[in-house]
Amino acid sequence: MQHINSKLQEVETTIFTVMSNLAAKHNAINLSQGFPNFETDTGLIDLVTYAMKKGYNQYAPMPGLMALRAIIAENTNTLHASAYHPETEVTVTSGATQAIFTIISAFVHLDDEVIIFKPAYDCYEPSIQLFGGKVVPIQLSVPNFGVNWGEVASKITSKTRMIIINTPHNPSGSVLSKEDMLQLEKLLKDTNIILLSDEVYEHIIFDGQKHQSAAKFPGLAARAFITASFGKTFHTTGWKMGYCLAPKDLMAAFRKVHQFNVFCSNHPMQYALAEYLKNPDHYLSLPSFYQEKRDLFLSLIQGSRFTFTPASGTYFQLLNYATITDEGDVAFAKKLTREHKIASIPISVFNLNGQDDKVLRFCFAKTEDTLERAAEILCSI
Ligand code: PMP
Ligand code: GLN
Repeated sequence: MQHINSKLQEVETTIFTVMSNLAAKHNAINLSQGFPNFETDTGLIDLVTYAMKKGYNQYAPMPGLMALRAIIAENTNTLHASAYHPETEVTVTSGATQAIFTIISAFVHLDDEVIIFKPAYDCYEPSIQLFGGKVVPIQLSVPNFGVNWGEVASKITSKTRMIIINTPHNPSGSVLSKEDMLQLEKLLKDTNIILLSDEVYEHIIFDGQKHQSAAKFPGLAARAFITASFGKTFHTTGWKMGYCLAPKDLMAAFRKVHQFNVFCSNHPMQYALAEYLKNPDHYLSLPSFYQEKRDLFLSLIQGSRFTFTPASGTYFQLLNYATITDEGDVAFAKKLTREHKIASIPISVFNLNGQDDKVLRFCFAKTEDTLERAAEILCSI
């Protein structure tokens, strides 16, 4: 081929792959890509094995196994006083990434505008571009990453098709408050704008705060897709299992694409997850489980030259290194990996025009031993 006309000419390999590969090459502690380094509950693994032996090895129903959709709807409706119907308003997906891609592909037409907040998780923008949409970015500011809803209002035009929010927010660790959600609800009233609410860290929220799901706000729920990930919730990022919720009409449009995009997701895992979700303790215990890890990590690096605002949610902590060097964050993250054997994610890659605030993201979904070794290195820098 003389000329390959890629639809994503400018896009490079995702930073998660770049940093994880570099960590492996230099034998560094990998706090870059977000995944736990401890095992998932063997009870859940046993349920998958059981399902495979019982013969759940062929295609699942296209929207997902009914038992799984039913327990997802029941648990969601209990948590948020919502009314999702398992038959028509819940679809099981191959991770949240597939849900997000499918939602965007189903609704974003040529020249439609999609508002996103930067720093933004890296799969949103290329997906919008692939379908001819125009990304309308709004840059949030360190250290609190609060949203100025007046600014959001000023970006809404007759072409705005969708707005994407993410709470708890990757990479900043910030969360949207009830007041934020009410402001958004007011802003979208009387519009045809679809809300994509990426809530994959819904159960990882700290200091007694409550997750403000779009499902809790009728004016938002009526126009929202909510995406969720079992990878985050059950320490199984490699399983690539998730789901999305939306009102019936929106979900019908989603399934028109989903049936040709993946058709269905992994069948034995759906069986296992349906059983496992019968015990809500499995996810209700996550705030204290991860808050302990956040607090341990932060107490261990208290004496270092890095500065920080504790994460309100997610399993990521931002550390500011401005007192150490004025090097760019990508160069500094790579240097830390090569020379100090600790890998992180530079935040500028998620920012508007690569804005560099001298912050790195560290994943604390790790064993105590790993967090201790990581902190020791960070304190020596
Ligand atoms: N959204 C956000 C904000 C994420 O951090 C991730 C990463 N895991 C995803 C979506 C994708 O989730 P999944 O691994 O289930 O595809
Ligand atoms: N969500 C993970 C993170 O933010 C990465 C997922 C991926 O590697 N694409 O680190």
